[in-house]
This record gives sequence, structure tokens and C-alpha cells, in this order.
Amino acid sequence: MIQKLIERNINDCPDYCIKRQSISDSDDRLHLLEVNGLCPLCGDKLINIGNKRTKVYEIAHIYPNSPTSDDLMILNGVTILGENSESFQNKIALCFNCHKDYDFHKNVDEYNMLLKKKRELYKAFTAKSDLANIDVSQNLEVLLKRITTIDISTMNKTELRLVPLEIKQKLSASETNLRIKVTAFVTEYYLFIKNYLKNLEEVKQLNFSKLATTIKLAYQTATESLDSKNEIFDALVEWLLSKTNTSDKGCAEIVISYFIQNCEVFDEVTE
Ligand SMILES: [Zn+2]
Repeated sequence: MIQKLIERNINDCPDYCIKRQSISDSDDRLHLLEVNGLCPLCGDKLINIGNKRTKVYEIAHIYPNSPTSDDLMILNGVTILGENSESFQNKIALCFNCHKDYDFHKNVDEYNMLLKKKRELYKAFTAKSDLANIDVSQNLEVLLKRITTIDISTMNKTELRLVPLEIKQKLSASETNLRIKVTAFVTEYYLFIKNYLKNLEEVKQLNFSKLATTIKLAYQTATESLDSKNEIFDALVEWLLSKTNTSDKGCAEIVISYFIQNCEVFDEVTE
């Protein structure tokens, strides 16, 4: 399933539309996972969990499988995704209402908006799937278990005055929100984590260089399919949570921020 996104112009692909194919159960599940179980257009849940688990979504074609003459005119010259109209890349899970709206009131702006969503979701999804293959040492589990019990009151903020300057070299002005978040986490937790890891290593509970290599590898894997640092950051956070089987997102963000400061994550930007 995991392959690079194919992007072409519809005018260059006269054979793009092929006979409708039904969707396998496994592809159906992947479509649901790709959108994180939420309709990408309205945000509604795509599974109702009541007495019985009910599916409240359909798999929509982004570029129509059998375009009407109106569709052909409206969508003249647009970008299309995937080998053909039946490929995974041209399909996306939508709630019933959004699917109906999309199919019957299509205009080029709506088309391009859905295309953009698909592109982002697909990239994030494939990055996550690649990351799942990386083997993580026990070290990270040890680390995260300890970090969840961090007592902020024991930390000394003033010791870290110089640190934020360095973050600026790794996140550009266009990534302001992420920069603010990472800087705040680093200011609060960097020394604490550093000392903690040192202690863990001293009592032979951690091999820091092995841990750092693992994080670096995860980062490099994420950069292969993700462009923006926000997406990479989020993918690494999700990866860390799933690998450590923990659910404290804030805690995972703190750890990833630590490794940004420590240079395993993000290379220097040139501005
Ligand atoms: Zn919807």
C-alpha cells in the first residue's frame, strides 16, 4: 500500500478513469485510519460506537470515476492522484453528508481542497506506517515511564537562559507555533531530562547513545515522506506514544523537544 504519491495533470492522462472496483475490507480500514476516524471535511466521527459499532462513512472518489460532461468541464486541467481513478490515492473516507455534497455540488475549489487534504493525510499516514517498522529499545520505555512522573517544582528555569537561541537555528520563522512550543518545553525540561538520563545511564538502566540513534533514525524516516516540521513533529510524537504504549501526548512532545535541542531531530535551517 505504501508508495510515493503520484501527482499528474488530468489532461496528460486520458486513461485515468477505469472501471469501478469494489473496496477490500483491508483497504476500507486503511482509509478509515488515514483520516484518523474523522470526516476530513466536517470533522464528524466516522464510526458510531453505541450498542453496535456502525460505519457512518463511504469511500469517495476524489476525481470522479465516471465524470459527467459538467465534471469534465469543471475539472479540466486539475491535478490527479494515483495510477488511476480506482487507486487508493484517489479515494478518501467521507461522512455520508459530505460525500453527497461533494459528488453533487462539485466545483474546482472544493476539488482542490479535498485533494490538498488527501495529500496531507496520505503523507502523514505513510510516515506513521514506516515509523511502525523501526525497532525501539527498551530505553525509551524506561525514559517515558520516568518522565511521566516529572515534578516540575524541582526544576530551575534560570539555568537555561541560552537554550532558546539554538532552537531558532532549527525552526524557521514560518514554524513559529512549533518553535514557541518546543522552546517552552526545552526551557522547562531540558536540564531535568539531561540529568535524569545521566542518572539512568549511571545505574545501567539506559544506553543513551543507543536511544539517541533510535530517535535520529525515526526522524530520518519521517523526513522521507513528510515535508513540514509540524507534520514531522506530530508523527514522531505519535510514534513515541505507540512505541512506548503510553498516552500522555504532552509528555511525548517534551521528549521529542528534548531531542530537537539535542540535535537528533531537525537539521539547521538557513535563513
Ligand atoms: Zn463530513
